[in-house]
Amino acid sequence: MRLEGKVAIVTGAGQGIGAATARKFARDGAIVVVCDLNRDAVSEMVDACREAGGVAEGFSIDVSNRHAVDDMVASVLDTYRRIDILVNNAGITRDARLQKMTLQQFDDVIDVNLRGVFHTTQAVVDTMIEQGAGVILNASSVVGIYGNYGQTNYAAAKFGVIGFTKTWSRELGPKGIRVNAIAPGFIDTPILSTVPDEVIARMREQVPLRRLGKPEEIANIYAFLASDEASYINGAVIEASGGMTL
Ligand code: NAD
Repeated sequence: MRLEGKVAIVTGAGQGIGAATARKFARDGAIVVVCDLNRDAVSEMVDACREAGGVAEGFSIDVSNRHAVDDMVASVLDTYRRIDILVNNAGITRDARLQKMTLQQFDDVIDVNLRGVFHTTQAVVDTMIEQGAGVILNASSVVGIYGNYGQTNYAAAKFGVIGFTKTWSRELGPKGIRVNAIAPGFIDTPILSTVPDEVIARMREQVPLRRLGKPEEIANIYAFLASDEASYINGAVIEASGGMTL
């Protein structure tokens, strides 16, 4: 199994792409640390990972809370003594046009989607440097490449995540750590629950494959990037959008 014995933290693993990634990692032999704001979802996913044959542990925390992130990482190190993979997947949307966007909407998205990625990565990086090995995978979006109507806050965060990825791949590559990002297009998860049906239908039409992506299709890419099969991929942004351009 390609992730056999690897200790992997997956943030936002309670549902959607993060849940599919946690399950996939468990099937591939990883020790999965399920991290999510939603306590019930964490315990369900820990059970699901164990049923998939993996070892799993859960933490119900908010990635925008630095102390909570540090406590989680300390606890993982206490138990497993290493951290091999970090998937910075937790993310939210608070959409509004520029003129209507409140400071609260702006701050909420930046706090989770950008600052949260900074928190978790800073919390694990010393350990990965000591190990001389590690993989950091960040959730960007096609919106972090092309921008999107109504998503000033989200676009800023997802462009920022690409900036993190390229910067950290330069800083950490010499220390044996690979850092990459995925930029998914429209993936069928609960994050799209606030998007009206007619907009979803239009999204589908924009995609040459004429369908939304499945969370498992993104999880497969995370699993590949996390594995040694991707040993020469560093600083990359892998677009997985069915060929869509915004
Ligand atoms: P989702 O809403 O289905 O799941 C996100 C998970 O993150 C939830 O379980 C939620 O509880 C958790 N979460 C939210 N805030 C958190 C916090 N502060 N701390 C810890 N956990 C928190 O979303 P998804 O569609 O699976 O998206 C996952 C990632 O992929 C996000 O970063 C998203 O921006 C990105 N993405 C999604 C799509 C898409 O179309 N679904 C497209 C591009 C990028």
